[in-house]
Amino acid sequence: MQLRVYNTLTRKKEELIPIKPGQVSMYTCGPTVYKLATIGNLRAYVFMDELRRVLEYDGMKVKSVMNITDVGHLVSDGDDGEDKMEKSAHETGKTPLEIAATITAQFMSDIDALNIKRPTVCPKATDNIPEMIEVVKALLDKGYAYETEDGIYFSVEKFPEYGKLSGVNLEEQRHGARVEVNSFKRHPIDFALWKKAAPNHLQQWDSPWGRSFPGWHIECTAMGVKYLGERFDIHTGGVDHIPIHHENEIAQGECWLGHRIVNYWMHNEFLLVDGGKMSKSLGNNYLLSDLQAKGYAPVIFRYFCLNVQYRQKINFTWDAMDAAMTAYGKLCAQLIAHKNSPVKTDKAVLDDFTKKFEDAINDDLNVPLAIGMLWTMLKLPKSRDIYDLALKFDKVFALDFDKVKEEKVEIEVPDDVVALAEERLVARKAKNWAESDRLRNEIAERGYAIKDTATGYEITKK
Ligand code: AMP
Ligand code: ZN
Repeated sequence: MQLRVYNTLTRKKEELIPIKPGQVSMYTCGPTVYKLATIGNLRAYVFMDELRRVLEYDGMKVKSVMNITDVGHLVSDGDDGEDKMEKSAHETGKTPLEIAATITAQFMSDIDALNIKRPTVCPKATDNIPEMIEVVKALLDKGYAYETEDGIYFSVEKFPEYGKLSGVNLEEQRHGARVEVNSFKRHPIDFALWKKAAPNHLQQWDSPWGRSFPGWHIECTAMGVKYLGERFDIHTGGVDHIPIHHENEIAQGECWLGHRIVNYWMHNEFLLVDGGKMSKSLGNNYLLSDLQAKGYAPVIFRYFCLNVQYRQKINFTWDAMDAAMTAYGKLCAQLIAHKNSPVKTDKAVLDDFTKKFEDAINDDLNVPLAIGMLWTMLKLPKSRDIYDLALKFDKVFALDFDKVKEEKVEIEVPDDVVALAEERLVARKAKNWAESDRLRNEIAERGYAIKDTATGYEITKK
């Protein structure tokens, strides 16, 4: 079955027909590396990875590009406020370069932990300044942009199709625009391609317009075309990027080259926490490390994400994580039982499940349906063939089915340490994290380390 995807641009599901048969080129807006990625951000990259894995399962060769935004993303997502990197530098006393290096390393480690395949190329914005300058120069030459006292702006009125991605027309945007703080712009929704830097601005480069730095939107256009060519297949990102960032990418990119660049725009919905937006003030901007500290392995978070289709909102709660952990543990137990059975399964039955799996994933990545189908398959009489087929499906799920093994205490552990571990399991189930931490320390004092697993715990000698 041919993969069908929902294209934000056309607002319908379409067959994905790559420009070059057998090869797919995809671009993903990467992290802005001024602060650690939240589990919300990570959902966007689990989606990117699922898309790539489905394409590869279907036999496509995928070239995937994800940029690293290490300059130019302003606090407002538009043209107002400080550069996020600059702000973080002032707050921490570190240089933007130091911050970007630390955060990028942590981000890469998070995506590795989540079994997200590393994109083919992860270009940094700061390594592509000359390419961005070329695009801005071309837009000025063609009359789509104008220079002001504080930067170079794209003239939205020169692109009548502006708004085609989000479906909001120029007039509506004009009325909806906030009272403009930037008096240099000719039209309130014109956007910055390039910003002139104040002398004390930390990140700045020589350009035809003096010392300055790029706008966020131009980065993705320049890097997308540099690494994937003037026309490529897919562009992904979170839904928050549709109305500003991606609308601007389309406008500047199509005016620059005179044609459409991206064929399929795909966007993931948000991850919510306790039904609402993640926010610093609510203290619920959770990181992957927060989950790990509470004993949830990254694969549990991946399993949690996979149970909701990428275009639906997903609601994170600790109870939902517990449910995911329990379900994943049961799934692993089933897989082990199948793995250890010498019985054979009828080929027609296996083919039927394969077809159902492929139909689900190719229907705009209906991974939750594919997982439901896997559960049904695991209820069949135990058979190694079923385990082998589940392993094949795991090329798409990436839930470590090849690593499942019976979790058992393999060393001689004194009874009192086991008793403490059991007590800790009870505390964890009651979400009494303080007690759980206290018991972990007590176990450590007796010379043992305890690790939480999908089905309970593992004790090792320190
Ligand atoms: P940023 O680092 O802010 O540019 O965001 C990185 C990616 O995460 C973008 O694709 C965003 O659209 C996406 N994103 C941000 N917050 C969430 C969220 N709560 N749920 C899902 N995706 C998100
Ligand atoms: Zn982008």
